[in-house]
Amino acid sequence: MPVPFYMSTSSLRISNNQRPPVLFIGHGSPMNALENNPFTQALGKLRTLCPDPKAILCISAHWMAEGTWVTHMKYPKTIHDFYGFPEELFAIQYPAPGSPEVAELVVSTVTDPKVHLDDEMWGLDHGTWSVLRHMYPDANVPVLQLSLYMAQPPEYHYKLGTQLRQLREHGILIVGSGNIVHNLRKIRWEAEAMPYNWAIEFDEWVKSHLIKRDFQPLINEFIGFEAGKFSVPTSDHYYPMLYVLGAVDENDELCFEFEGIQNSSISMRTLSFRAIVISDQR
Ligand code: ZN
Repeated sequence: MPVPFYMSTSSLRISNNQRPPVLFIGHGSPMNALENNPFTQALGKLRTLCPDPKAILCISAHWMAEGTWVTHMKYPKTIHDFYGFPEELFAIQYPAPGSPEVAELVVSTVTDPKVHLDDEMWGLDHGTWSVLRHMYPDANVPVLQLSLYMAQPPEYHYKLGTQLRQLREHGILIVGSGNIVHNLRKIRWEAEAMPYNWAIEFDEWVKSHLIKRDFQPLINEFIGFEAGKFSVPTSDHYYPMLYVLGAVDENDELCFEFEGIQNSSISMRTLSFRAIVISDQR
């Protein structure tokens, strides 16, 4: 059955647990930074899951680098890494501070591979700020980015994610920002454009494995069939999810925060893994 442009948002429950969830956000078009739509409204509600993190570590699809780097500057710049969009989008600044201390904590926490400190190469790209400006509009939480070392295989990214898990104990919110289905060559701009069957198939395939907590196929088999090849023609928007899966704890509760296929070939599936709250209140 075809999936409409924006399908649904799930209900959000406020967690009073101090341990941050891990989030994967399907960021879609940079224009979402400016828009007020069901997707951006769902982003706004995500803040209730983690109102006051110590810092946010974002693994964005848009920072591809030779090596694994973490931003180390006190004041990361807002990067407008796109073209052909309205001036209004280029005017956006997201002036969240960085945190050299947290960057150094990332370096000491990840023992293999070596994570390099970046003082000048990057900043915050639109995979980060286009979603965070809806979640934390005041830009008062320190934000860092971790690069994608694209020459490495999927397992590398997942294993790195398993080491990031410990950062949750320090109150750090880990956010993967990409898209599970992301094929720009196949995109359709018409407002009523229906999703491709392969996009629906792959998005559902990922969803079912997430629900089963069967992560290995998501790491090793995602381009082993036709729908995966069309949905992940390049790995940059898929790999951020592997970091999120690595950072998941066995007991975390999976919630789909938003789902739907945008422009026929972009899955906006957004999800959280939340620490379970143990409460005496009935
Ligand atoms: Zn993107």
